[in-house]
Amino acid sequence: MAKCILIILFQMSFFMLKGLGQNNKTPLYLTNYTYSNSQNDIGYIRINPATSAQIKTIKIRGEYSKVLTISKDYKLSIGKGKVQPGIKQMDVVLDIKTSKGNFKDTFRIVNNEFIRNKVVAHRGAWKNTGVTENSIAALKNAIAMGCEGSEFDVHMSSDSVLFIHHDPGVQGVSIAKSTSAVLRDIKLSNGERLPTLEDYLKAGIGQNKTKLILEIKMSELGKASSIALTNKVVQLVEKLHAQAWVDYISFDYDVCKEVMKLAPYAKVAYLNGDKAPAELAQNNFFGFDYHFNVLQKNPTWIKEAQQNKLTVNVWTVNDKAMMERLLQENVDFITTNEPELLLTLIGK
Ligand code: MG
Repeated sequence: MAKCILIILFQMSFFMLKGLGQNNKTPLYLTNYTYSNSQNDIGYIRINPATSAQIKTIKIRGEYSKVLTISKDYKLSIGKGKVQPGIKQMDVVLDIKTSKGNFKDTFRIVNNEFIRNKVVAHRGAWKNTGVTENSIAALKNAIAMGCEGSEFDVHMSSDSVLFIHHDPGVQGVSIAKSTSAVLRDIKLSNGERLPTLEDYLKAGIGQNKTKLILEIKMSELGKASSIALTNKVVQLVEKLHAQAWVDYISFDYDVCKEVMKLAPYAKVAYLNGDKAPAELAQNNFFGFDYHFNVLQKNPTWIKEAQQNKLTVNVWTVNDKAMMERLLQENVDFITTNEPELLLTLIGK
């Protein structure tokens, strides 16, 4: 009898702890995840408004506690001359008391050496390098070339594992309707396995030159699955501390808004071409990422975006004359299957 009670008590405590662990995900985020020699202020520590919690106190722990300061309004800054040259990133541990509980979490702050040359390799740099689009090899080529960003597409398996591929199906197999065990066995034409998002992000965050432009695809199973996929993506980016590297794009307006709800710091651009710049600005978008046809039909939108402080990205531009026109209009990014040509045009 006593043994039974002990077992029940043990199981109850296990489930209570498990529940606490699940609810204990930090609702905190930084408004920015980079620093540089000329930028001592990193950003603000904020609490997700969806939680309605209030910050009480924050303490910095770990090896960078003597390097960083927090102001009364929770601005995180680096003390002048305190970071050793050559450091690429810092894992900052914050111990935070809030009205909804206490949290200890790690935030990765990255030395902002990200390249600013407008070149976004569409599905990686694959076309002229002989590797498969959306492969890790294509990402590595874009990084080696010195592109500002490398774009890739994310779907989710039936058991909620995230995979990189453009179409909803790969080699006749539906990603959304298949298990990860089946999908992991699929080989791309360059010999690589179908990459998971986890492997892809791990390959991308070993450097701090090229941003990762993550497209959340609409699920063929409908809106609820697209939103579930979005939640998994943001969770994984945060688990890997990859916030500094990842910008988000999607054709689905609700997916874009879900990313901003989950991760108010995230830079999100809309792909579908049916929203004017003023509406995107009102909804806190980072920018638009529209097909060149949309901008030919709406010739004022580049200027309107610039006036509204939105970034302008245009896809998929492979033609030299069009690249030159867009560079003259001072767009922020050009997404292309010909990153080599665009790099030549900008003189790199
Ligand atoms: Mg894409």
